[in-house]
Amino acid sequence: MEKSWHSLPASDCLNLLSTSEDGLTIEQVEERREKVGLNQLVEGQQVSLLTIFLNQFRDFMIIVLLAATLISGLLGEYMDAITIVAIIILNGILGFIQEVKAERSLAALKELTAPMARVRRAGKIETIPAKDLVPGDIVLLEGGDKVPADGRIIKSPGLDVEESSLTGESVPVMKHANKHVDEASPIGDRINMVYMGTLVTRGKAEFVVTETGMSTEMGKIAGLMQASEESLTPLQRRLDQLGKLLVWVSLAITALVVVTGVLHGNGLYNMFLAGVSLAVAAIPEGLPAIVTIALALGVQRMIKRNAIVRKLPSVETLGCATVICSDKTGTLTQNRMTVQRVWVENEWYNVTGTGYDPTGEFIYEERAVRAFRREGLKRLVEIGATCNNAIMKSVQTEQGEEWTCDGDPTEGALLVMAKKAGFDDPESVYHRVDEIPFDSDRKLMSVLVEEGEDVYLFVKGAPDVLLERATKLYIGGREEALSNTTKKQIVAANQQMAGQALRNIAFGYRKFRSIESAKAEQDPEQNVVFVGLCGMIDPPRQEVYDAIQKCRTAGIRTVMITGDHQTTATAIARQLEIIPEDGLVLTGRQLDQMSDEELSANVEDTYVYARVSPEHKLRIVKALQGRGEIVGMTGDGVNDAPAIKQADIGIAMGQSGTDVAKEASALVLGDDNFATIVAAVEEGRGIYDNIKKFIRYLLSSNVGEIVTMFVAMLVGLPLPLLPIQILWVNLVTDGLPAIALGVDPAEKDIMQRPPRDVNEGIFAKGFSVKILSRGILIGVVTLLVFLWALHTQPQNLPRAHTLAYATLTMAQFILVFDCRSVDGGILRRNIFGNMWLVLAVAASLGLFLLTIYVPGIATVFKTVPLHGMEWVIVLIAAAIPTFALSIRRVGLSAMKTKVATR
Ligand code: ATP
Repeated sequence: MEKSWHSLPASDCLNLLSTSEDGLTIEQVEERREKVGLNQLVEGQQVSLLTIFLNQFRDFMIIVLLAATLISGLLGEYMDAITIVAIIILNGILGFIQEVKAERSLAALKELTAPMARVRRAGKIETIPAKDLVPGDIVLLEGGDKVPADGRIIKSPGLDVEESSLTGESVPVMKHANKHVDEASPIGDRINMVYMGTLVTRGKAEFVVTETGMSTEMGKIAGLMQASEESLTPLQRRLDQLGKLLVWVSLAITALVVVTGVLHGNGLYNMFLAGVSLAVAAIPEGLPAIVTIALALGVQRMIKRNAIVRKLPSVETLGCATVICSDKTGTLTQNRMTVQRVWVENEWYNVTGTGYDPTGEFIYEERAVRAFRREGLKRLVEIGATCNNAIMKSVQTEQGEEWTCDGDPTEGALLVMAKKAGFDDPESVYHRVDEIPFDSDRKLMSVLVEEGEDVYLFVKGAPDVLLERATKLYIGGREEALSNTTKKQIVAANQQMAGQALRNIAFGYRKFRSIESAKAEQDPEQNVVFVGLCGMIDPPRQEVYDAIQKCRTAGIRTVMITGDHQTTATAIARQLEIIPEDGLVLTGRQLDQMSDEELSANVEDTYVYARVSPEHKLRIVKALQGRGEIVGMTGDGVNDAPAIKQADIGIAMGQSGTDVAKEASALVLGDDNFATIVAAVEEGRGIYDNIKKFIRYLLSSNVGEIVTMFVAMLVGLPLPLLPIQILWVNLVTDGLPAIALGVDPAEKDIMQRPPRDVNEGIFAKGFSVKILSRGILIGVVTLLVFLWALHTQPQNLPRAHTLAYATLTMAQFILVFDCRSVDGGILRRNIFGNMWLVLAVAASLGLFLLTIYVPGIATVFKTVPLHGMEWVIVLIAAAIPTFALSIRRVGLSAMKTKVATR
């Protein structure tokens, strides 16, 4: 029977679940997983492989074709009927393989973005995939997490959870571990419980898992839920519409061909079969599957480059991005901080050493000094190390000892500085009682500590913020009133370090009479005694410089958005060449004073936004979008989510990002690196290009076939291609080269073109002319060869069919190489640049040759073997559509350059 966990005290829940605050043992976990299975929601409808296979034959035209085949079977044309059925099955198998492959890659992608959970098991905290949770597990939550299972809260110093996915209520609910809740309360009122899929907006808590997987509240409604996320890309939707249109157009043309053919004296049965085959040929039924494959394979290439796409439509939008707004710390820079300078008691110290290696010294006036002999420096170092949650770890590698930081790198750097000063173990001196965590809005962090009888609030944070809250200065072991002159000195010292691109932190403290009096204060971070400043270097990531250059040539503007100081941000923006000479820098404070119109007037010239809060990001995105920009925006925290959602491409940090930010994003950066965004843009452009390439190929080929058949009918010629020949070309030999175009390597200039206009349809910029011109020419040359064949051997119809069939096929094989270049054509690219395509064409060529050279098969296809001279004619004719137009284009561009250089 289901328990009402919310009406029981936390301790009873722990007992009932046979667990404790230390969590389950490994044996218990395994035993329970055997019993309850994985903590996963079973997807609404699992499509079986058989259904996918059968779906291949549900296409309207395929059904008509099967009906036609049945009729031809009944009329005694057994060979035709069997061959057509075989071709349809072969086509079905190809389609099935494509679809399953696409499904698999999308499923693998889902797996990659699967949530993780922090649990305490056998007394140790570990991070595990959320699907491995079992009832009785103790889970730790903090701001930004997505709740991974249902559970009863056992500890919560303060927790706000947004439960709209479950209750529809978007205002966060405050949760309490110890509140009693009536058994009959609805979910929204059960404030001592948390539920799977809801989001922690603030605070921390521990809860014991009560239900997992389909037994959770989310599981109960999972069957009812529709996948709300749009999974078709705009292009896919447009192609869907195009497909529907093409069905009608081809039906009309087919009807015309059939009627004209009959009027010209062709048999009704023959014309019917030819008409249906032509209709099948004209409709690019393979297109949607190939688009999905190209998207799925492209997305996999992105994963290899550390960019994980969460929303498929964004793959297309990536190619349209015109502005990328990026956080500074960790994305443009390495987030490997090292304190280099300290300013305290009006004096400067340099700190030697690199990275997190704790070997280094404090240098004062070119001499090493003992930091703890100097009162102010000692206090500063102590605050830095105590007001701190990072842990430094060392591992022995082949290169020697290597140090890493678990936690905020800014705090790691302060621990390293403390070690250099010889202060290793802050806990042994200062006992921590409470903490006010750092957040990007306040830009401060404090801890309340005891040292014997003394109670201190140690505060560290952004210098300007801390200075506003300071009333005294710590100097010579005493507290003095903070004069305006001293304030100016502090501001000047801060400026000096920021000008050297250092990230600055200020330190202060406040003394209290007792813990109680400190806790009684609403805002204890007031009347602070200012101690000093430190500046840490956070070097730019090496690859970022090139990535920014690449963006520039690709017509994409990079904008830095940071919580850091204006001067530091500008100095780094200059190093990275983000900001031009006349570029603007705006601060959060200036933004607050600007109206939306003023912001809009400045937004195109602003390259750095400094000291901004996450809330400002939303305004910036909207202002840019108002100017018609397509905006990529990065973020990691809970408060970044609205801006990430609003952006055209919301980008979340994979390593430092919260679940909330990831949930809102379209793209997750596996390595938090700006260069990865640029790689994703490049891949996005490449994928779109590739889709265009095979659309062009398939549609041109179809136009070629229609023209051949249609014109022949109009002028009263016999059918140039037999139905099974058309089917073979379309359903079998076309497919492989089209897929190979889907994985074509990008053209060299892909990042030298301006971004694509987001409103530009795929057939814009002469694309349809290109499709039609090549298609019509293919039709014309096929007809000409057919006519020549009829002229040279009027009685030999199989030879004429074979020659037309060969010309059409060869023309398509040559055209496919032309399609590799979006603007250039066949002469622009190395034929062997895409070995998959070469192999695909070779395989398709093999399939084609089977039908004219293997005796039994040739009989079925009603073909004859071709000989020397015939091949020469076929190949010359087949080359004309592609080469004639490519040469014309090369000529035109040569003429243009001539005119331009005149
Ligand atoms: P970005 O937004 O580019 O990631 P950022 O990391 O510098 O930039 P925040 O983390 O919001 O932005 O930091 C803003 C300021 O707050 C920093 O310049 C620093 O002075 C201060 N600060 C950063 N981390 C801490 C911390 N752990 N404790 C106290 N103050 C901090």
